[in-house]
Amino acid sequence: MCGIVGYVGPRQATSILIDGLRRMEYRGYDSAGVAVLNGKGIKVQKAEGKLSALVEKIGQETIEGTVGIGHTRWATHGAPTTPNAHPHISGDGRIAIIHNGIVENASSIKKALTQRGHTFASATDTEVLAHLIGEYYQGSLEEAVAAALRDVDGAYGIAVVSADEPDVVVAARKGSPLLVGVGDGEWFVASDASAILEHTRSVVYLDDGEMVVLTRVGYRVRTLEVSRIEKPVNQIEWDLATIERGGYPHFMLKEIFEQPESIENTLRGHLLHEEGSARLSGLNLTDEYLGQMERIIITACGTSWHSALIGEYMLEEMARISVEVEYASEFRYRSPIVDNKTLVIAISQSGETADTLAAIREAKRRGARTVGLVNVVGSTIAREVDGGLYLRAGPEVGVASTKAFTCQVAALALVTLRFARLRHLSVLEGRTFIDALQRIPALIQSILDRAPEIEALAKRCEDATNALYLGRGVNFPVALEGALKLKEISYIHAEGYPAAEMKHGPIALIDENMPVIFIAPKDAVHSKIVSNIEEVKARGGKVIALITEGDTEIEQLADATFPIPETLDLLSPLLTGVPLQLLSYYVAVRRGCNVDQPRNLAKSVTVE
Ligand code: GLU
Repeated sequence: MCGIVGYVGPRQATSILIDGLRRMEYRGYDSAGVAVLNGKGIKVQKAEGKLSALVEKIGQETIEGTVGIGHTRWATHGAPTTPNAHPHISGDGRIAIIHNGIVENASSIKKALTQRGHTFASATDTEVLAHLIGEYYQGSLEEAVAAALRDVDGAYGIAVVSADEPDVVVAARKGSPLLVGVGDGEWFVASDASAILEHTRSVVYLDDGEMVVLTRVGYRVRTLEVSRIEKPVNQIEWDLATIERGGYPHFMLKEIFEQPESIENTLRGHLLHEEGSARLSGLNLTDEYLGQMERIIITACGTSWHSALIGEYMLEEMARISVEVEYASEFRYRSPIVDNKTLVIAISQSGETADTLAAIREAKRRGARTVGLVNVVGSTIAREVDGGLYLRAGPEVGVASTKAFTCQVAALALVTLRFARLRHLSVLEGRTFIDALQRIPALIQSILDRAPEIEALAKRCEDATNALYLGRGVNFPVALEGALKLKEISYIHAEGYPAAEMKHGPIALIDENMPVIFIAPKDAVHSKIVSNIEEVKARGGKVIALITEGDTEIEQLADATFPIPETLDLLSPLLTGVPLQLLSYYVAVRRGCNVDQPRNLAKSVTVE
């Protein structure tokens, strides 16, 4: 999910690779490494932490050579340590690989390789791929890579070198970006144009299933099956700052648009369609334990607390388990009723949230089993819980959480499916749920494609001093999250409420200046929410409503609507959350706010 850069040409590779990695630092990473060919073999150097640690290591021992690959890692398999950093090498040490993404069937390939005598130095899925390519190698790196990739399920951008082919870099992509840089007598490969922009603006974008072979005389694009295909060379027009944000003006917008991909990554490898269930071995919970479990407490802060509330609706309705959602900061200072039949689930993007960490420690002291839904691999919460599920949202740079939120909801959907299937959900119901989950990324994409419509709605809200977000059922937490997003980045005061609760207080605030945003998909409580809209309209309120496509009833009532595609009621927050993120983004931009770094807020709250 992080950075790849590769070089073949007349110049010294190491500094070109390090500069390229430095250009991609903005993406976030946890460790880095390079492999350089110098005619005598492969020289690998890697280091945990910042690029400066790698530079310092290399400084002690200069790496000579004009062909090489470099990587910044954002861990998905194994903690962010030096042994787990890339490049990884094959069993005989003759091949080195760097990899972005996830090899889904790494554990079964690893088992087979282990039986054939392979031993591994890291916990990564990438090292498995290095060994597999090594086994296939019979004098052609490109053929060995193609053969190995035929065995691989999952997503990857990779670059590979071999000591036996000192003038060659082979790269391939499936589900993870990669491009070729065409220079003057030199060639590059990179996951991000920013890595190579200072050397060339001519690039070839690779598509899924394509590979490239760089040599000293040029490059050739191929697929796993066909040895040559023609691809156009494009000229990059963007400036460096724009490229660093993937062409988006802000990280927040980039991350909102990454959600189809990040949710796919959350779900990747976990869905068991045949059984209508989810494989979540990382939770470390036996069927026996799950059979005896009586209660779940989900603890979190901020946006994660909102996804926890959505989880409560899903788990109680589908798995019929009693769930309580607790602010982590409250949980730790009350005297919560927790015993060994209570499962405590902690949710945190960073895995370092101080209050959530303290809550987990308190839960453990009281005898509960603990599970973490965390984005950052190897973070403190991830290390301290008894089991967990990584979100795999990729690095989130914008302070206001967006893709981590929807990935948390997707992860909770997986947990719900697994628990529900052990209780009373039928195989068929499980499959229906899986089918609906798998359609979510495409449905989110269809919402993102209509972002300009939300931008137009933002004009109606930009001058407001207050806003009210109302939803019911599983979309009540979405109302809370919508209000939080608006507060965080536009500094407009906003409240989220259960729609029916409005008449017990907030209705007093309604006038023609306060936008009231209804989250009103056509679900079991639709008719109730229509009445709530009537109540607001009767008091001169301005209503913006998120509705299910084709809902003419609310269309006629509301001042403005944004239609959402249909999905299962319980999964609707994965769709309704997205336009609300966009709405706050566009309002904040129109108000001239610092969207990515709002005042007074920190990305990871490591204080009480
Ligand atoms: N899955 C690989 C790992 O954990 C690659 C991570 C990345 O995309 O940086 O090492």
